Amino acid sequence: MKQILVTGGAGFLGSHLCERLIARGDDVVCLDNFFTGNRKNIAHMIDHPYFECIRHDVTFPLYVEVERIFNLACPASPIHYQRDPVQTTKTSVHGAINMLGLAKRVKARILQASTSEVYGDPEVHPQVESYWGRVNPIGIRSCYDEGKRCAETLFFDYWRQHKLDIKVVRIFNTYGPRMHPNDGRVVSNFIVQALQGKDITIYGDGSQTRSFCYVDDLVEAMLRMMETAAGFTGPLNIGNPDEFSMLELAEKILSLTNSRSKLKFEPLPSDDPRQRQPDISLAKEKLDWSPKVRLEDGLKETISYFRGVIR
Ligand code: NAD
Ligand code: UDP
Repeated sequence: MKQILVTGGAGFLGSHLCERLIARGDDVVCLDNFFTGNRKNIAHMIDHPYFECIRHDVTFPLYVEVERIFNLACPASPIHYQRDPVQTTKTSVHGAINMLGLAKRVKARILQASTSEVYGDPEVHPQVESYWGRVNPIGIRSCYDEGKRCAETLFFDYWRQHKLDIKVVRIFNTYGPRMHPNDGRVVSNFIVQALQGKDITIYGDGSQTRSFCYVDDLVEAMLRMMETAAGFTGPLNIGNPDEFSMLELAEKILSLTNSRSKLKFEPLPSDDPRQRQPDISLAKEKLDWSPKVRLEDGLKETISYFRGVIR
């Protein structure tokens, strides 16, 4: 049994991660300020003897005795991270400084949930870890993109300067049960719209692409990365390389929900990446991992979750 801190543990990915950790017998401290997280996501774990939740903001220091830290605290959907962009940057940067400081003090191994957004609107396709990215430093997505890039810098400087045991994963678009119904992300938006018979909002002409990973596959990769040999730091791409246009995604969701919603074309938000697909060769090699859940199957699970939470 290990003592494990999960920051952002009441969020979408964090709650699934906490669940897997307690199921395998670890002792989990979930830290969250509930900015986008929800008590309902962790309600089923709250009485578990190996689960504890602390309401805390990662931009303030924290002291807990743990052996592993998964640092996930940060709003992840564009609507949420653009709501208070200054706080988003603080969460990434001050949050990383505080969690790295904690890891140094208690000699914990620490994993950063970074993002494919560090590649910005990429000229290299699919994206490999050695690509440095093309990020606008002053746009509306910058608070998130540059915050996450700076967090990566801090992780690697703590590794070089203080010999900290770090792991960095770059997560590509992930979906599944417990996504926030109003977070504005494409999978949740389309499913909610289809179930409610509302128009499906396609931004731009819908030809932009994303590659969607089901949450269970993603969490498995994070767990494996955390237990790789010391010295393997990443960054490591994790995600599902199957690439779809937003039009293809809309059609799949309409068919799986038997919805008669119509497509409605809206302006493309600025700095919206044209295409995104992870090269996961390194993850295959280092983690002996590749995603198992096909988009249709993952969407069915997610649709059934949303049927239960929306009217
Ligand atoms: P989420 O918004 O559901 O979860 C983030 C959690 O962090 C929430 O519970 C929120 O309340 C908490 N949080 C935010 N600011 C905080 C603060 N200052 N102090 C403490 N807690 C705070 O998002 P998610 O999709 O679960 O994403 C989790 C992590 O994974 C994020 O770091 C995100 O950047 C990264 N990520 C997610 C995706 C994805 O597709 N879901 C893709 C790339 C990266
Ligand atoms: N998108 C869309 N309709 C929506 C929500 C999003 O067409 O209702 C598009 C968005 O412009 C982007 C893609 O879907 O091109 C993925 O958006 P999301 O916010 O899920 O993730 P990110 O852009 O951060 O990858």
